[in-house]
Amino acid sequence: MSKNILSLHNISYSYHTIQGETKALKDISFDLQQGEFLAIVGPSGCGKTTLLSIIAGLLTPQSGTIVLPHNSKDMRSSIGYMLQRDHLFSWRTIYQNAILGLEIQNKLSDRTKAYVEHLLEEYELADFSDKYPDQLSGGMKQRVALIRTLALNPDILLLDEPFSALDYQTRLNVSDDICKRIRKAGKTVILITHDLSEAISLSDRILVLSKRPSTIKYELNIELDNEHRHPVRSRTIPEFGKYFNILWEELQNESDSIN
Ligand code: ADP
Ligand code: MG
Repeated sequence: MSKNILSLHNISYSYHTIQGETKALKDISFDLQQGEFLAIVGPSGCGKTTLLSIIAGLLTPQSGTIVLPHNSKDMRSSIGYMLQRDHLFSWRTIYQNAILGLEIQNKLSDRTKAYVEHLLEEYELADFSDKYPDQLSGGMKQRVALIRTLALNPDILLLDEPFSALDYQTRLNVSDDICKRIRKAGKTVILITHDLSEAISLSDRILVLSKRPSTIKYELNIELDNEHRHPVRSRTIPEFGKYFNILWEELQNESDSIN
């Protein structure tokens, strides 16, 4: 039986500025199972990034509770957060970028350096260790940003639209490649995406958020065998169309444009 790795109970969050209050999240509750790949979709500006920031511990919800793995405080370090615009530093080499998180958290050691080298091998970037970001393709840079997050060996990965900067074809290949590797490593993932096909082909479950103040509007379990868990092959089976239409309908009622 799978075990709960994260539970959210009635999370609400509002931003307060001099212009007034923006209610972002209202009564968000869900559980995440160990090894699960959860996708979250919702209208632009509904609070998706806010939700990830709360889970990562960067924002404190005004109400509600989060139960983390083993419910211990330092378990925050078991969460890796890859931001929507997670740029590499152009003046640091690929290797220096990859170890940045470890450096900041004061966790550089022979063991962690060896792990980064292993990840660079695994993601076919070892030959580029001494290159600079400008010398790499978009997909490769994305893999470096992911390695920087994985280097801290998180149990849960929070990915905020990680493929949105890539062109369509690269995106299909890179999303397939990265997600296969993440699954193989047994990580638990929350992926935010505005691409419904991507959500269907990559995840085990999809949460649809409403417009602000965001609530969980719909939950959809995705059942694909390994062969069809692929950005292109998933489209060849009848369930794909069914899933897509359900999500589309749910989002249509919320907004004309989603992000
Ligand atoms: P999403 O990621 O779904 O596009 P966000 O979580 O970024 O949405 O934002 C949700 C809402 O909160 C938006 O209306 C946004 O304008 C507002 N918001 C986000 N960050 C801040 C902030 N730091 N201060 C005030 N309002 C914010
Ligand atoms: Mg966002």
